[in-house]
Amino acid sequence: MATSGKKQKHPKYIFVVGGVMSGVGKGVAASSIGTILQARGLTVTALKIDPYINIDAGTMNPTEHGEVFVLNDGDETDQDMGNYERFLNMSFTSDNYMTTGRVYKTVIEKERNLEYGGRNVEVIPDIPNEVIRRIENATEKANADVTIIEIGGTLGEYQNLIFLEAARILKYRCPGDVLVVLVSYLPVPGHIGEMKTKPTQYASSTLNNAGLQANIIIARGKVPLDQKRKEKIATFCNIHPDHVISAPDVSSIYDVPLNFEKDNLGDIICSSLNMGNLCKQSDLSAWKKFVTKSKKPTKTVSIAVVGKYFSSGEFVLSDVYLSILEALKFSGYDNGVKVSIDYLSAMAFEKDTKLVSSLKKYDGILIPGGFGKRGVEGKIRVIEYARKNKIPYFGICYGMQLMVIEYARHIAGLKQANTREIEPHAQHCVIDIMDDQKSLVAGSNYGGTMRLGQYDLLLHGKTVAHGIYADYFKKRDKVDKKIKDNIITKERHRHRYEVSSEYIETLQKSGLVFSGRSPDGRLMEIAELPVSQHPFFVGVQFHPEFLARPLDPHPLFSAFIKASLQRNKK
Ligand code: GLN
Repeated sequence: MATSGKKQKHPKYIFVVGGVMSGVGKGVAASSIGTILQARGLTVTALKIDPYINIDAGTMNPTEHGEVFVLNDGDETDQDMGNYERFLNMSFTSDNYMTTGRVYKTVIEKERNLEYGGRNVEVIPDIPNEVIRRIENATEKANADVTIIEIGGTLGEYQNLIFLEAARILKYRCPGDVLVVLVSYLPVPGHIGEMKTKPTQYASSTLNNAGLQANIIIARGKVPLDQKRKEKIATFCNIHPDHVISAPDVSSIYDVPLNFEKDNLGDIICSSLNMGNLCKQSDLSAWKKFVTKSKKPTKTVSIAVVGKYFSSGEFVLSDVYLSILEALKFSGYDNGVKVSIDYLSAMAFEKDTKLVSSLKKYDGILIPGGFGKRGVEGKIRVIEYARKNKIPYFGICYGMQLMVIEYARHIAGLKQANTREIEPHAQHCVIDIMDDQKSLVAGSNYGGTMRLGQYDLLLHGKTVAHGIYADYFKKRDKVDKKIKDNIITKERHRHRYEVSSEYIETLQKSGLVFSGRSPDGRLMEIAELPVSQHPFFVGVQFHPEFLARPLDPHPLFSAFIKASLQRNKK
């Protein structure tokens, strides 16, 4: 946003808290508030607070936590950070993410360094003060007019009290600069058939108990909120009826900013925070263009995503691959198609060796990142099928490593090829642990120690990958000249293993092309087959899904969808 250089004397803070139950879309609400404020010319930044003790999301089981979203600086965060980046078209860092563990760790370290001058260090106010310091730091670094802070968890939980306390303290220190948005849920019990406001009233009074009053209530529900209930909520929750925003379920989360604006949320925030002089006329045209484009396609390409983290009890957890799903969607719209995704369990292909032939019906197959042994042989069988039957294949991280193993076993004649991660004594560890990872793993030093975050990627001329990135940069940067033979760009990573340097020559001789490497040439970042052999057989060691944005789809996903669309047409 073009507001840099503006002296920001009173940054504004919007705390987003959730009531009634989890999963009502706090993250999307916080992100959408960001989008509508950006559209008014404001510089926005956002923070996510996760109330758990973990220092980051990196060590958590994906079926427990959902996706681990990696930032440019390598911070392993919550998937909401992905929503912020996608809605705001910005990149964040560890300054924008905190957990209870992180906050306490800093306070305890300061105490050990005698930074509290020998006094008693107390939960209140020292913990909230550290929370506020982090919020102010992120605000300052972004030179933000407005900082949106999402407090994870639900009102009434013990573990987010300390963060509500931080909001309360900041509010009284900066009168007029802090807004509290309660995202609540209004159930419609089947046997009554009427939308009920009582749980929201309880949530609001729980917030009052923490010394805070909601300024705005976002009323999530299956259906829109009627005027009668707006007024009821207003009366019982002590706010103006116009400040109760109707937020019914929508088919796409990207409709939410536009829906909020139907109830004038942007104006309400700007006037409540006295930002009239800073706010321009809202311009959501780019966003609207994207939303319109997303509704147009009538044609569908079908993609099989083969992974292992899908089930939790009876439920399918597509959340684990959220960024991949979003990246596929954006690139679908870019190609004028809808992407329909089937999540298939890799283990099923192990149990039933004939099942792979059912993949014929798909236009493309994607294998995402992963860890460990479970499902690996099933995935390798799927990759072999995609290669032999010329079905577009896109392998991400583990999906690339397993693609290399498949090729090594079946084409390069290394029948025992494997990854050191699951078969440490395999005859041919074509995927091996990175040198600097060895001592970390030996010392069980797992938290935040993978090769994480953004690294340079060098693409070589006359390859599939080079062609894809060259086209993208030509379009995006409007470069007329021929793009150079070598392109350097950046991608985000999260891995401990890599293609072993011992086998690169053998693999290349048998036809596998390494079209992307680290600039020093040591790490293989992209493996592919030439188009003469396969319409799209590409694996990447990095995670392009973390950089895919609605207003800027990722070129690799777009190329994968384009190849899938071509198969669909045949
Ligand atoms: N398990 C592999 C590694 O650590 C791949 C990781 C991933 O897919 N994110 O290298």
